[in-house]
Amino acid sequence: MATIGFIGLGIMGRPMAKNLISAGYKLVVYDKFAKFDDLVALGAEGVSSNKEVASKSEIIITMLPNSPHVKEAILGAGGVIEGLKPGTIVVDMSSIAPAASQEVGATLKAKNIAFLDAPVSGGEPKAIDGTLAIMAGGDKAAFEKVKPILEKMGSSVVLVGDVGAGNVTKLANQIVVALNIAAVSEAFVLSTKAGVNPQSVFDAIKGGLAGSTVMNAKIPMILDGNFKPGFRVELHIKDLQNALDTAHNLNVPIPLTAAVMETLQALKVDGMAANDHCAIARYYEKLAKIEVRK
Ligand code: NAD
Repeated sequence: MATIGFIGLGIMGRPMAKNLISAGYKLVVYDKFAKFDDLVALGAEGVSSNKEVASKSEIIITMLPNSPHVKEAILGAGGVIEGLKPGTIVVDMSSIAPAASQEVGATLKAKNIAFLDAPVSGGEPKAIDGTLAIMAGGDKAAFEKVKPILEKMGSSVVLVGDVGAGNVTKLANQIVVALNIAAVSEAFVLSTKAGVNPQSVFDAIKGGLAGSTVMNAKIPMILDGNFKPGFRVELHIKDLQNALDTAHNLNVPIPLTAAVMETLQALKVDGMAANDHCAIARYYEKLAKIEVRK
C-alpha cells in the first residue's frame, strides 16, 4: 500500500485522514497551524513541514482553505515541491480557483509530477462518514491510480476533465447551492408573512419540482432557528468570489451569483460570517421583518 502524505487537518482534512488510517494506509501528516496528536495516536507519522511530507510519501493529499494556501504549501519555500520523489501523485482536494489548480498542475508537470484537483461536496458529516462527492480533474492514468484511495473518503468519485475541471465543477456546485438557498429563503419568508405555516409549505412542496436536497437540508435548520455551521458564510463568500473571478475572465456574466454574493457580504457585516450559509434566510427575514420558524 502506498504511503499517503496528508496536509491540512482542519474541519474536513482531519476526518478524511482518519478514514484513510482506518482503511489501513500509512499516513504522514502535517498542518501549519493545527495540532495533529490525535492522528499520531491513531498511527500516523507527524512531521514538521510540507517538504518533509513530500519526501516520505508516494501520494500527497492537500485539504487547505483557498488558492494562496495551496500555492504556498505545494510551490512555496519549504513546500511539497522541494521534497517530491519521482512518480509521486499530488492531489489537491481544496476548493480553490481553477486557474490556481492549473498553475500548480503546470509547475508540477514541468517536473514530471502528476497533479489532480479533486474538490469535494458534502461537508463535515460526509467527510466523517466517508461519503463525500469528489469531482476530479487531471490525467486519467493518475486518476485511476488514486481512485481507490479517494473511494475511502467519498461515495461518488468522478473524473470530470483536465486539471482545473474539478474546481470548475465545484464552482458550478457552489453557485447552484447558494442560489437555491436564496430562492428557498425568499419563498419561505413570503409564504410565512402571507400567513401560511412554513412547515406546511415545506411538506406540500418538497416532493414536487421545487423540492431539492438544499431545501431538505436547510428548511429544517431555518425552522429551528439553527444557524450553526455546517458550511460557513465566509467559505461560501470565498467560493463565489472564485466563481465571479473565473466567470469574468471568461466573459461570462453571472448576475444571480453576484446578487447572492452581496447578500452574503451583508451577513458578514451583520456579524454572521461564521454562521451556516442557510443564514441567507436571516437576510430576507430582516428585510420583511418576519421569522420563518416552527
Ligand atoms: P479549515 O480551515 O478547517 O482547514 C484548513 C487547514 O489548513 C487548517 O487546519 C490550517 O491550519 C491548514 N493550513 C493552512 N495553510 C497551510 C499551509 N500552508 N500548510 C499546511 N497547512 C495549512 O478548512 P476546511 O473546512 O477543512 O476546508 C478545507 C477546504 O475544503 C476549503 O477549500 C473548503 O472550501 C472546502 N470544503 C469545506 C467544506 C466544509 O463544510 N467545511 C465542505 C466542502 C468543501
